[in-house]
Amino acid sequence: MANFTLRKPHIVVVGAGILGCSVAFHAARRGAQITLVDAATPGQGATRLSFAWINAYGKEPFNYHDLNRRSLDMWARFARRLGIEITWGGELRWAVTQAGADDLVSRARQLQSWGYPTRLVDGAEVARMEPELNAEGLVLASYSDLEGQVNTADVVTAAVAALTQAGAEICMQTAVTGFELAQTKAGPQTVRAVQIGDSRIPCDAVVLAGGADTAQLAGLAGVELPQYHTFGATIITKPLPRLFQNIAVLHSPRDKQPHVNFRQFADGSVMVQGSGRDNYSQGDRGGDDAQVAQIVADAAEYVPALADAQVDHVRRGRRPIPKDGHPVIGFADDVTNLYLATTHSGVTLAPIIGELAAIELVDGTAVELLAPFRLGRFG
Ligand SMILES: Cc1cc2nc3c(=O)[nH]c(=O)nc-3n(C[C@H](O)[C@H](O)[C@H](O)COP(=O)(O)OP(=O)(O)OC[C@H]3O[C@@H](n4cnc5c(N)ncnc54)[C@H](O)[C@@H]3O)c2cc1C
Repeated sequence: MANFTLRKPHIVVVGAGILGCSVAFHAARRGAQITLVDAATPGQGATRLSFAWINAYGKEPFNYHDLNRRSLDMWARFARRLGIEITWGGELRWAVTQAGADDLVSRARQLQSWGYPTRLVDGAEVARMEPELNAEGLVLASYSDLEGQVNTADVVTAAVAALTQAGAEICMQTAVTGFELAQTKAGPQTVRAVQIGDSRIPCDAVVLAGGADTAQLAGLAGVELPQYHTFGATIITKPLPRLFQNIAVLHSPRDKQPHVNFRQFADGSVMVQGSGRDNYSQGDRGGDDAQVAQIVADAAEYVPALADAQVDHVRRGRRPIPKDGHPVIGFADDVTNLYLATTHSGVTLAPIIGELAAIELVDGTAVELLAPFRLGRFG
């Protein structure tokens, strides 16, 4: 019989954004004792301003698409466990030039070859799906019907409640300031305790899910994480009557500037994002009131009902992005119980990163699916 002991490690998760919450939630379900620490309150980082589109569109190469696709497929189960609702209905985008239509076709063909059911639709079908939409000049549209969007505040609130129920220690307004390291006989180091000013939390493992501050946190343990961030902004309107009959997420034509993205919350408020030319790596518009007013005016060109929309508030902050745009998930080679969990598309990827990280952290088994996403790829 194999030699086997059940592990119940004490894991300190640093960062109570959607990633830290998901890792903590899944690790607690596997029996770990969790301490969740955040410098502020849960979900106030990138998670708060996120557009929160759950998708596997435009995610390349295949292994990254596949990770997103699997996570998308896991969202319904994650939501059920948390007791929250997700708005499904798919994503729609359209092109107004022949070159833009050609791009939609080639993207759709690529996705279809990977088994993803994005399909091409014409103007008549778009008008049937979304009568409120002004898609004037439409040459061709693409519809990804598996996709959806989630209210990230619901996810974080439910995860923290479940963790509290499970006996986890939740330490908010608590900034991690350092790590107490110990040298192992084999060479690499381990974290013995997490430092918070003058106090310390002893632990078996530490998860760094600090969003845009993950590189800085890793640096406190002598680990280099190549990461950058861009400016992110989303505008929340006062509640409006239901705008979209079927579709969960809309993107304006990518072959025409400026770009705007829309989704509507269950309470009727609409999130509008003025994204950059190539989406997330360039940062958003919306840094001041004049830009916000312009984005809402741009949005009303596509959804005329937004012309009278009143801005309730604007969410601004930093969008964390590992240097090559892909997730960094797993233990650091030089500090063997220090686990990194940071990515863009962290809303889409929250269920899979949480579930797979929990296997690695609690059971000690390396998950092959994560092999392309280790820190070691940066050399
Ligand atoms: C405008 C915008 C739009 C986006 N759109 C999408 C989208 O449509 N779909 C999608 O999948 N993804 C999207 N993303 C990306 C996604 O939102 C992020 O990948 C995800 O929210 C990151 O979550 P996180 O938990 O890693 O980080 P955060 O939510 O930033 O959480 C990090 C936490 O760490 C804490 N922290 C930092 N330093 C310390 C410290 N020293 N001690 C203790 N705590 C600390 C912070 O207080 C914070 O609460 C978008 C992001 C932005 C900004």
